[in-house]
Amino acid sequence: MRGGLGGPRLLLRRLREVMAEPVSAQARLDRIVIHIAANMVAEVCSVYVLRSDGKLELYATEGLNREAVHLTTMTTGEGLVGLIAEKAEPLALADAQVHPAFSYRPETGEEIYQSFLGVPILRGGNTLGVLVVQNRARRTYSEEEVEALQTTAMLLAEMIASGELQSLAAPGQSLSLQKPMSLVGSALSDGVGLGHVVLHEPRIIVKQLVAENPEAESTRLDAAILAMREQIDQLIARGDRYGAGEHRDVLETVRMFANDRGWMRRLREALDSGLTAEAAVERVQNDARAKLQRQTDPYLRERLHDLDDLANRLLQQLTGVAPPHGGALPDNAILVARNMGPAALLDYERANLRGLVLEDGGPTSHVAIIARALGIPAVGDVPNVTDLVDTGDSIIVDGGSGEVQLRPPSDIETAYGEKARLRARRREQFHKLRDVPALTRDGVEIGLHMNAGLLIDCQHASEVGAQSIGLFRTELQFMVAPSFPRQSQQYSLYKRVLDAVGDIPVTFRTLDIGSDKVLPYMTKVEEENPALGWRAIRIGLDRPGLLRMQLRAMLRAAEGRALRIMFPMVAKVGEFVAAREICLREVEFLRQHDYRTPCELKLGVMVEVPSLLWQLDEICQLVDFLSVGSNDLTQYLFAADRDNKRVSARYDDLSAPNLRALKSIVDAAARYGTPVTLCGEMGGRPLEALALAAIGFRGLSMTPSAIGPVKAAIRAVDLGALRAVLMPMIERLDHSVSIRQELQAFADANCVHL
Ligand code: PEP
Ligand code: MG
Repeated sequence: MRGGLGGPRLLLRRLREVMAEPVSAQARLDRIVIHIAANMVAEVCSVYVLRSDGKLELYATEGLNREAVHLTTMTTGEGLVGLIAEKAEPLALADAQVHPAFSYRPETGEEIYQSFLGVPILRGGNTLGVLVVQNRARRTYSEEEVEALQTTAMLLAEMIASGELQSLAAPGQSLSLQKPMSLVGSALSDGVGLGHVVLHEPRIIVKQLVAENPEAESTRLDAAILAMREQIDQLIARGDRYGAGEHRDVLETVRMFANDRGWMRRLREALDSGLTAEAAVERVQNDARAKLQRQTDPYLRERLHDLDDLANRLLQQLTGVAPPHGGALPDNAILVARNMGPAALLDYERANLRGLVLEDGGPTSHVAIIARALGIPAVGDVPNVTDLVDTGDSIIVDGGSGEVQLRPPSDIETAYGEKARLRARRREQFHKLRDVPALTRDGVEIGLHMNAGLLIDCQHASEVGAQSIGLFRTELQFMVAPSFPRQSQQYSLYKRVLDAVGDIPVTFRTLDIGSDKVLPYMTKVEEENPALGWRAIRIGLDRPGLLRMQLRAMLRAAEGRALRIMFPMVAKVGEFVAAREICLREVEFLRQHDYRTPCELKLGVMVEVPSLLWQLDEICQLVDFLSVGSNDLTQYLFAADRDNKRVSARYDDLSAPNLRALKSIVDAAARYGTPVTLCGEMGGRPLEALALAAIGFRGLSMTPSAIGPVKAAIRAVDLGALRAVLMPMIERLDHSVSIRQELQAFADANCVHL
């Protein structure tokens, strides 16, 4: 830094005084640019603010023509200022006019200035504007000067973020920070939620930017880094989990960054420019975010999360603010988070929660499963969303389409409000169907059952009029628990489930873990092909202690009532026989120890591994019932991962090969009088449900919210007429015919509203 009028610290102190003066926003900005220019011995200092229309507007200047203020604008990427905004990086030029991006604005009178130094005004890695100094003479700006100007830009970022400058915007204009945005992610949980942002991990707001006592700040920073490193070491030593979803490898990466020399040096430099320890952490993190957010490489973007984690931990050490843990929420809260474990979501009070938006988290993430169970509209895979919002911003989540509207204009808000009301009206109509049977127009009854996995789901059974819980996914309890649930905890859940649903039957499925269903407290087995690996019943048979413990918990929980149990991922008849053997031995054990055993025990298998399609005659004679897991069955039939967006469109549930496979199951079951239902997602989609009924399924188990729409479709259809259209297409495969389109046309022509 050249001599100036006392270096960056004095400048920061001056600017802080200006911030506190009771003057208008414009006057404050005008004084700020005068101080910066004087301190940096520059003839020009200008502030450009990014507007919501993407233009950078000159908001204040010392040295350029004052008449240009609020008149001169440029788009992002245009000229040197636009380039800085686009790249979010400083630019220092001794001879600005020879730079290819230089664009001359006559109204500013800047042609006489040769040297140029500009820095982005950043907040959370987003560009809010650009701060520039210029000199008449050709000169090279030192690294310290660049650093000092970046630090100064932080103060301006706070001023912009506070909303103070909004008053200077022309009518109809708004600043970038407040601009409406329409984002698209993955649809996780259906429904429309309107409300206001609540950040799951609120940013720690650094209130004091300027250091009063630089030495003391340096000591504080050293102590906080030491304490943070110790904390991370302890967490790693203690086990692989702390709080929800925090895993050892994440902590290991954070520990690596916490010892990184480059990171330490950048923190020191920020401190030396006059910032408090907290502000230095924020400064360094802002720069890292600005750089990494523009990376397309997913590995680098992932590192941004690690660095965020590191900065948050350090800020927590410095401020003593502990991370929040769920709890009460304001009215109409929409939670926004980078990612969230299922337990964390369950910690929040449900009554005021209207939606969930995540940066990470695909449709099969555990938190998505919980969101669906709770009926909370949710969208995942929304890049960078935590940086684009502030607590209290208005926001709309459309969990059906995967759209998120930030700070929506009133017409968008009205449209979504209407959509939400329409959905509520349709729900009411479906509710009216609750007690009527799902009977087709030609008198065929289809049993509608629901899928569940948590105790909380069970309340939906009577709300939607489900005939039974056709699939209870027991692994969800294991996935949301902090440690492996003991037998007594399993027993307690199963008993409460049976108590909660009253008279209707429940089909418990034994633990289906492995593949994408990872238990955070269990050592992950590295496998080349986890979907084809050690999972579900395979684990149960190889570790019979686990299976036995679960079966015992179920058998006891029945307390003399009827019980239905099924085994997932059975690939060979022998596996069912072995599992049944274990179960029957448990029944015997309970009997010998004078426990009440179920008055009736039905044991079934999930048909979800294609090999079973060629053992149907044998399996049908052995089991009490079959349940088709079409999610897995179809993905294995087509060798296309159901959650991989690149390939999931490569198959169609309603294609002839899939329907042929499914029909072979119902046909075999009919030959032996074995009851069969289908419990994959397919059964919950009205058009697919009609096709399944047409090929012979008489029982479908689905997510509770699908029961109403499926029942309405079934009640509107003449199954005989539908079968006449569908069967020839299944029997005579013509790849140019889309069964889906044909069925849709049939539904439209026959007033079956889907
Ligand atoms: C299925 O595979 O269709 C099924 C219901 O099981 P899950 O989705 O739990 O794997
Ligand atoms: Mg399955």
